[in-house]
Amino acid sequence: MYKRVMPGAMLGVLGGGQLGRMFVKAAQEMGYRVTVLDSSPDSPAGRVADDFIAANYSDHSALKKIGEHCAAVTTEFENIPADVLEKLSNHCQVSPGAKSVQIAQNRISEKEFLATNGFPVVPYRIIQQAEDFQAPDIHEYLPGILKVSQFGYDGKGQKRIHNEAELKPAFEGLNHSVCVLEKMLSLALEVSVVVARSADGEIKTFPVAENQHVHGILDISIVPARISSALADQAQKTACQVAEKLNYCGVLCVEFFVLSDGELLINEIAPRPHNSGHYSIDACITSQFEQQVRTLCGLPLGETKQLTTAVMVNLLGDLWHHNEPDWTYVLQCPMTKLHLYGKTEARPSRKMGHFTVMNDSLDTALQQAISIKNKLNGN
Ligand code: ADP
Ligand code: MG
Repeated sequence: MYKRVMPGAMLGVLGGGQLGRMFVKAAQEMGYRVTVLDSSPDSPAGRVADDFIAANYSDHSALKKIGEHCAAVTTEFENIPADVLEKLSNHCQVSPGAKSVQIAQNRISEKEFLATNGFPVVPYRIIQQAEDFQAPDIHEYLPGILKVSQFGYDGKGQKRIHNEAELKPAFEGLNHSVCVLEKMLSLALEVSVVVARSADGEIKTFPVAENQHVHGILDISIVPARISSALADQAQKTACQVAEKLNYCGVLCVEFFVLSDGELLINEIAPRPHNSGHYSIDACITSQFEQQVRTLCGLPLGETKQLTTAVMVNLLGDLWHHNEPDWTYVLQCPMTKLHLYGKTEARPSRKMGHFTVMNDSLDTALQQAISIKNKLNGN
């Protein structure tokens, strides 16, 4: 039986990145205290937490400590070994469950789960060794993208393949890790749906986000997505079905590809709040992080209605060059919210923060977002 955990209790989060930080803040707003476990003594989430444990996920005594210290524990990091969540669940309530996280953290098990349950996925082939490239039908997946099956994120662990000759060097470049070779599709659009499901099966989706990526990293999310209401319904229903098939408890994001004929394919799923759902902090009645708190604590879900259209722009480390960017451009727009994650080192491609522009007109929000982005980039 999933217990209801009320404000005042100590919650735990595995992982100290920005997603953990935004979880901590949402939980604290509601009167919870939060303990963060992360290997780095100075993490974005650790810095704002009530309590902090500096340890690796493989440190059994640290896991026992957070499990005994907290009424319920969640994760912000999808690569948590499943047995860690399993062990923790002997001490306290844990969501999402080990099984769901295990499926989502490996591209092969993720695609097999989706395909077996009748969800449309991108055509792919499993590559375990270089000989697998000899398959007679390999050309059907070219041009394609070779993706490591585990630990890839923000376009890392991927190589774009234009022809057969590039396959072997790319596989070597990925250290012969087990991969999937996906056919490169011509995408009309990318969209995502964040869905929250509670242990007793209550389910709510957020509005569909339209996502633009640059070099495989999310750049802008436009919400609601500029798609037909029929397609938006289909994406939201599919996200609910995925959560139900996983018997999921927590917040889950389903990333979709939209093809030019309107076909909707699932790209991947993330067993946690998602970058494309950050707009919900400022633009929805309930944010994806509050929803994570609610699912973790066995509370009823919050209303996900969007109060105003919104455009979220990611701020990557490249913007820093040598100095802190001039935030005046963001701060002088009264309908824009700046979020910085408190990371001390700004490396290229590293997610340092985001801003969200809100407006009753989506076109105006988008124009303002692009204008701020250009100014920050010195254009
Ligand atoms: P990550 O885990 O790094 O987010 P994704 O598989 O989502 O990896 O890939 C990142 C981005 O690369 C996608 O959002 C999309 O823009 C592009 N991409 C990935 N796979 C394909 C594909 N098969 N066809 C076309 N574009 C793709
Ligand atoms: Mg992705």
